[in-house]
Amino acid sequence: MMKFCNACGHSVSYRVPDDDDRPRYVCDNCDFIHYLNPRIIVGVLPVWREQVLLCKRAIQPRHGLWTLPAGFLENEETTIEGALRETWEEARAKVANESLYRIFNLPHISQVYMFYRAELSAEEFAAGPESLDVQLFNEADIPWQALAFPVVGQTLRSYFQDRKTGDYSVQSLDIRSSAFKQP
Ligand code: ZN
Repeated sequence: MMKFCNACGHSVSYRVPDDDDRPRYVCDNCDFIHYLNPRIIVGVLPVWREQVLLCKRAIQPRHGLWTLPAGFLENEETTIEGALRETWEEARAKVANESLYRIFNLPHISQVYMFYRAELSAEEFAAGPESLDVQLFNEADIPWQALAFPVVGQTLRSYFQDRKTGDYSVQSLDIRSSAFKQP
C-alpha cells in the first residue's frame, strides 16, 4: 500500500494508467507511475557430506524456526552473489560448486525464490546476526515441523529424494496460495 509519490511527495491514486491494463499507483500531481514488481529471494541448500545446513531464525517472521540461508536479492547483484552473501550473513559459511536447483513462483505474494545447491567448503559455520543457531542435519533429524517456510520443506524433500538417484534436475514450481501445507 503506497500513499505518497516517490518523485514529488504528493498523494497517489491506485488506478489504471492510460495505455495500461492493470492498476498502478499514479501521482495525482506529477503523474509519475510507480511500477511495483516481484521481489526475488535467493538462497542456498548447503551440503556437507550426508548433512545439510539449516539456520534457526533470530528475526521475524517465523522467529525460532529453521530455514535455509536465503534473503532478498540486492540491486547490482547477481543471483549467485546474493545467495552466497546470504549464506555468509546468516550461517557464516562459505560454499562452492553451486548450481541452480529450485525456482518457486509465489504469485499471490509477488515473490520468486531461487535456491542453489552447494557444498560447504569446510565444516565451518556459525550463527550470523539474523540466526539463533546454525546446525548440520541428517535427513532423519530434519525438524520438519519447525521449518520456517513451505518452500524450505519442499526443497529439502526434493533434495533427499533426488539424492537417491543423483539426478538433481532444475525445476520451476508454482505455489499459488497460502493454503500450501508443509509436510
Ligand atoms: Zn508526483
